[in-house]
Amino acid sequence: MRPDVAIVTGAARGIGAAICKRLEAAGWRVAGLDRSWDDDNVHVPVVRETVDVTDFDAVRNCVSRIESGIGPVAVLVNNAGITRDAMAHKMNPRDFTAVIDVNLAGPFHLIRAVLPTMREHAFGRIVSISSMNAQRGQAGQANYAAAKAGLIGLTKVVALENAARGITANCVAPGFIETDMTAAMRGDVRDAEIARIPAGRIGAPADIAGTVAFLASSEASFITGQVLSVNGGQLMP
Ligand code: NDP
Repeated sequence: MRPDVAIVTGAARGIGAAICKRLEAAGWRVAGLDRSWDDDNVHVPVVRETVDVTDFDAVRNCVSRIESGIGPVAVLVNNAGITRDAMAHKMNPRDFTAVIDVNLAGPFHLIRAVLPTMREHAFGRIVSISSMNAQRGQAGQANYAAAKAGLIGLTKVVALENAARGITANCVAPGFIETDMTAAMRGDVRDAEIARIPAGRIGAPADIAGTVAFLASSEASFITGQVLSVNGGQLMP
């Protein structure tokens, strides 16, 4: 029987919670990982794990627990991410490293932990959430754009190394999506960004979740090493 367990990082809220819900609707058994959970979390996946994706040993132990508890991992969604914005000439090097650690090293830790099982079963779907700002650049986000662009490079290598093993690796590059991350922006900056979206609206977490579910599905088995932009037409790379 084909493995049917999906891991989603950053699952407690925002896009990650929507991805958990959508993958469950598609029949995957979902283990959600986050560094903290609280009572307000909108969606509760089948399994909740508390783990910081920057800690490789903790990630490896967590993946082992999931595999021995509910079964081999078939789908990995690297969604956990943070921002620490500042202009490059003022950016604290610690904030540069912190963003690289969560947004780029984190996905590598997860990929490293799940690949042996995926290769053994000759099946896997790895989807990593990059960003439109990795494709176009964004003032104030040297750390974030570097990490999210790095994630695209990492994805292409993993796609190449594992294509013959039935494993695909792709990125989704969201545009401007309504979550706590964007709610934290200054109101006028947020409104100006929305005004630039040709579709005339901000994206919803469900827009990203549907794309992830497609890339995890059997219809997407011949798509690998790609970046799928989901941005309402804001950037056409
Ligand atoms: P949110 O900030 O709403 O949620 C991110 C989740 O990731 C939080 O639950 C957060 O936990 C968790 N997380 C952060 N760091 C870690 C860590 N070290 N280990 C485990 N979990 C962690 O973000 P969004 O839902 O908006 O974004 C999801 C992804 O989509 C991110 O990768 C983001 O960069 C990307 N993206 C978002 C866009 C948008 O417009 N919203 C646009 C383009 C890309 P905690 O609550 O503890 O911080």
